[in-house]
Amino acid sequence: MNEHEPPVPVTVIGLGAMGKALAAAFLAAGHPTTVWNRSAGNADSLVADGAMRAATITEAVTAGPLVVVCLLDYPVLHEVLEPAGDVLAGRALLNLTNGTPAQARETADWAAQRGAGYLDGGIMAVPPMIGQPEARVLYSGSRPVFDEYEQTLNRLGTATYVGTDPGLASLYDLALLSAMYGQFAGASHALALVGTEKADPAEFASSLLTPWLTATTIALPLLAQRNDTSTQAAEESDSPPDMQAVAIANIVTASNSQNVDEALLSHLLIPLRDLIGQSAHGRDLAGMVDLIKKTTE
Ligand code: NDP
Repeated sequence: MNEHEPPVPVTVIGLGAMGKALAAAFLAAGHPTTVWNRSAGNADSLVADGAMRAATITEAVTAGPLVVVCLLDYPVLHEVLEPAGDVLAGRALLNLTNGTPAQARETADWAAQRGAGYLDGGIMAVPPMIGQPEARVLYSGSRPVFDEYEQTLNRLGTATYVGTDPGLASLYDLALLSAMYGQFAGASHALALVGTEKADPAEFASSLLTPWLTATTIALPLLAQRNDTSTQAAEESDSPPDMQAVAIANIVTASNSQNVDEALLSHLLIPLRDLIGQSAHGRDLAGMVDLIKKTTE
C-alpha cells in the first residue's frame, strides 16, 4: 500500500486494555475499524468514536482483509476464532496475543490450513504507548503479509520484522520480558536492602539506581559475545571473575545480616557467584550466557 491509498479496513478481536488501545490507534489513523469482544460493552467507547461493532465473530472476520487478534492467551484465541475458521481464507491474520514460540507456530499452521496468511506479534509497550513510535511491535511469519500491511502496522508503533519463523516474535518478546523481570527483581532487592536503613527509597531510586542501571547497559554487548572470545575477554577484563565473585559473596552476606529475604539470592546471585567463581570456567561475564544454556551436546 502506498501513502495515497485509502486506509485499509481493519478488524480488532479482543477489546481488553490492549485491544482497545490497538483499535483506538487504527481509528485515530482513519482506518475503517470493526471490533468484536466477548463482553460487548467494551466496544461502546470505540463505537462512539466511529468503530463498527460486529454482532458475531464471523461478521467481524469478514469485515475486512486484516484481522488483528489480541486476547488473553492462545487457548482463548482458538476458542474464539474456531467458529470463523471457514471465512479466514484469503485474509491476513495478525495475532498479538502473548504466547510461546510453539503456540505461535501451531497457530500459523492452523491459519495456513484455513488459507489465511499469518503474522505473529509481540507488543513491547503498554496500552498508553500504542500509536507512538516508542511502542515497538515485533512481527514474525509471512513476509508478504508484513510487507503488504507494514504501513498499517506502523499505526500501532514501530513495526519490526524479525523473521519468517512465526515463533521468533514471541521468542524475542519473552526474551525481552525476561530481561525486564530480571532487572525488576534486582532493583527490588536493591530497594529492599536500602530500605533496611533510614534511607529514602524514592531518592535512592531516582538519583542512584536509575542512572546506575542505565550506565550498566554498557556491559550488554560483552554478555552477547560468543563463547570462543570469552577466555580472551576474561584475560583482558577490567572486572575479573574472582573480583566479581567476592562482590557477589558480599551482597549475600550483607543481605543476610540486613534481614533481606534471600529468595532472589538463592536463585540467581549464589549460582552466578559459583559459576563465575569456578576456576575451570575462569571467564568474565562473557561466559555467563553459555553457562546458563542447557546443552544437549
Ligand atoms: P485483558 O485482560 O485486559 O483482556 C483480555 C481479553 O481477552 C479481553 O478481550 C477478554 O474479553 C478476552 N477473553 C478472556 N477470556 C476469554 C474467553 N474465555 N473468551 C473470549 N474472550 C476472552 O488483557 P490485555 O488486553 O491487557 O492483554 C491482551 C494481550 O495483550 C495479552 O496477550 C497480553 O500479554 C498482551 N499485552 C498486554 C500488555 C498490557 O500492558 N496490557 C502489554 C503487552 C502485551 P472480556 O472483555 O469479555 O473479558
